[in-house]
Amino acid sequence: MISLNNKVALITGGSRGIGAAAALMLAEAGVTVAFTYASKKKQAQAVADKAARASGSCLIIQADMSKPADVKKAVKAVMSNFGRIDILVNNAGVWKRGAIGKITEQQWDETLDINLKGTFLFCNEVVPIMKKQRGGKIINIASTAGQRGEAFYSHYAASKGGVIAFTKGIAVELGPHKIIANCVSPGWVDTDMTSHVLHRKKEIAAINKAIPRGKVATPQDIAGAVLFLASDLSNHIVGAVINVNGGSVLYG
Ligand code: NAP
Repeated sequence: MISLNNKVALITGGSRGIGAAAALMLAEAGVTVAFTYASKKKQAQAVADKAARASGSCLIIQADMSKPADVKKAVKAVMSNFGRIDILVNNAGVWKRGAIGKITEQQWDETLDINLKGTFLFCNEVVPIMKKQRGGKIINIASTAGQRGEAFYSHYAASKGGVIAFTKGIAVELGPHKIIANCVSPGWVDTDMTSHVLHRKKEIAAINKAIPRGKVATPQDIAGAVLFLASDLSNHIVGAVINVNGGSVLYG
């Protein structure tokens, strides 16, 4: 039912977690995938090898989301290898604890630069390409934190709230160009980002209890929504925030 043969996707942060699951799921649907990583080259290569077995080839690019020159380099590499970008998934991100009153300007900037500015930078580079191609899909990974806030992660919540507002802005602006932008908004997902919390017995029991479905998501749960938004089945969904949180936070 979902076939994305001949499509090319660029995913940020595909070396681990949600990005890796999305890279593999899109590759299994026929997409030629390129993805970035920050420093974990071995893990990135292992994901790329699996993706290439599914769809023929996969390109990995080292790039820091927050650096305009790296973003330009990444987009250029995809264009020179594959010649087009049909799907952009802005996934790479950081989640670092910080109490208000103690967060340093450097911590604030790091989170906002990677999570929000990085999303902007990639969109800014890729949209002109999608305009020339007369269409495309942009999928930005937000968070429940961006919808309801998150204590001790206010800088993270601000970055993800920004991702949601930014996505709605470009969705309306780019709709007439057949470029469809949406967010996927995960709740708790079992990845390296959260393992220090989720693997504490006491914490996981309380977290599971607060989720109507009774468990945290797998990276594949989130990748499924990414695949749906990348496909033609979702073409009339524009500027939406797709919650993938087991029912824990019900803001659209
Ligand atoms: P993860 O397992 O920690 O993986 C993070 C990915 O981002 C890695 O591929 C990493 O590359 C890359 N990355 C980190 N900093 C980067 C930078 N400065 N420039 C480029 N790439 C960078 O994270 P995850 O849990 O899969 O999260 C993916 C997205 O989902 C994030 O935006 C996160 O905020 C969001 N999210 C996660 C959860 C959750 O519970 N896990 C919940 C809501 C939203 P390396 O491997 O090279 O370090």
